[in-house]
Amino acid sequence: MNLLPQGYVRSTDVQNALSFFPTPFYLYDEQLLRNTIKQLAQFIKNHLIQVRYAMKANSNKAILQIADQEGLHFDASSLEEVQRAVLAGIHPSRILLTSQQTPTQSALVKLKFFMNQGLIFNACSLGQLRQISLVAKDKQHPLFCRIHPGLGSGESPTRDTGSFYSCFGIHSEDIPTAVELIHKNNLYVKGVHLHIGSGGEPEIWKDTVLKGLDLIKNYFQQAVILNLGGGFKIARMPGETTANLKELISYACQKITLFSKISKRDIHLEIEPGAFIIANAGYLVTTVIELKSTGSKGFRFVLLNAGMDANPRPLLYGSQHPFYIIRERGILIYSDYHKYKSTFHPLAVVGKCCETGDSQTLDQLGRVVPRTMISPEAGDTFVIGGCGAYCSAMAMSGYNTSLEIPEILLRKNRSLLCIRKPQSLKQLIENEISLPEFKPEPKNKDELWLKDELYKNIYEQVS
Ligand SMILES: *Cc1c(COP(=O)(O)O)cnc(C)c1O
Repeated sequence: MNLLPQGYVRSTDVQNALSFFPTPFYLYDEQLLRNTIKQLAQFIKNHLIQVRYAMKANSNKAILQIADQEGLHFDASSLEEVQRAVLAGIHPSRILLTSQQTPTQSALVKLKFFMNQGLIFNACSLGQLRQISLVAKDKQHPLFCRIHPGLGSGESPTRDTGSFYSCFGIHSEDIPTAVELIHKNNLYVKGVHLHIGSGGEPEIWKDTVLKGLDLIKNYFQQAVILNLGGGFKIARMPGETTANLKELISYACQKITLFSKISKRDIHLEIEPGAFIIANAGYLVTTVIELKSTGSKGFRFVLLNAGMDANPRPLLYGSQHPFYIIRERGILIYSDYHKYKSTFHPLAVVGKCCETGDSQTLDQLGRVVPRTMISPEAGDTFVIGGCGAYCSAMAMSGYNTSLEIPEILLRKNRSLLCIRKPQSLKQLIENEISLPEFKPEPKNKDELWLKDELYKNIYEQVS
């Protein structure tokens, strides 16, 4: 019983990482990540579909490179993400840009540059369609159109991107105007895109298949691709369910093949999983710094050296993540995945930010809900699972002057590679500018108004 069950990372591997890197840090399991992608790659082979990694889930350079090496294409959420992917070595022709930004004049210059090399722009509004028509030229610059699906589903209301209170995509009532714009400007709409949300119900995803094919049939005569977005449910906790991707994809392919036959049009499927690919390949490794309580009528708290600043998902969504406690020499003493014959306590797990919401045990209303588990001791290593997606990417560094924590890759041969260094205090504040009349600030080391050695030290570190 030495396994952290969601992945291949063993507690001895965590222990090994601890001898090189102080907590807190993220630990990513390369083997598990590659295996997950390889499973998806099977679909690519069998069904001629394109899998795009939704890079907003985790956009670390090394992670992008692994996805690239495994043959995935990419879904970028902003022009900055496109540039980030290109800087990681990914060719623009492997990227689809699906963004809420309507390109400005200067963005259009960059977009045109990337589109000349094959970047596909997904027009998500009438404004975007108008702007992109200034640079897109028929077949040389194929476009996608993101259509508001009119039906949505997400793990929380904030991640449902298909209902009427979410503004993503061109609304069905605006499609005639969009079609007019497309014809007038001689645009080539190669793909139709629908995305219902993150962690949504598989049955609702299925409904988008027919919806998308209807759109292709009625409005987008040149389209050859149906992109149904991502958002596939992934279980992080025991008792949660993972979407049956095989079943969903074969359902979609069946409907598409039938449509292709009847309409004599060759349509291909694209999907864009983010969390599904990387959520469970990442861990947040922290240390228990203290145990506290709010008395006999209150809670018992486990205080960690990282919390909402490194994993904001519980605060944002009320998400549950699995916990593992490792004592010295890599002994796993608790895991949410194992039934122990031991004394359990209801414990609230909290981070170090000055906010009651800095907790890893919250419900969807932001209330602390203790989890029943074995009580750790100060100094124990506390590992939070399911932290590969939307953790580092959404980290709240800067709040309480928390610094971005390092990202460590556990390689296939079980060696460790730091793929992002810890942020320094200097990096956090280097763009701030002092009041010009603020006298006490020393201009150089000799002017230090505190002659203290410690002060000099800190001053040198941050300037
Ligand atoms: C966020 C997003 C995805 C990925 O969602 P996951 O829940 O990580 O799978 C895919 N496509 C689009 C357009 C998105 O905005």
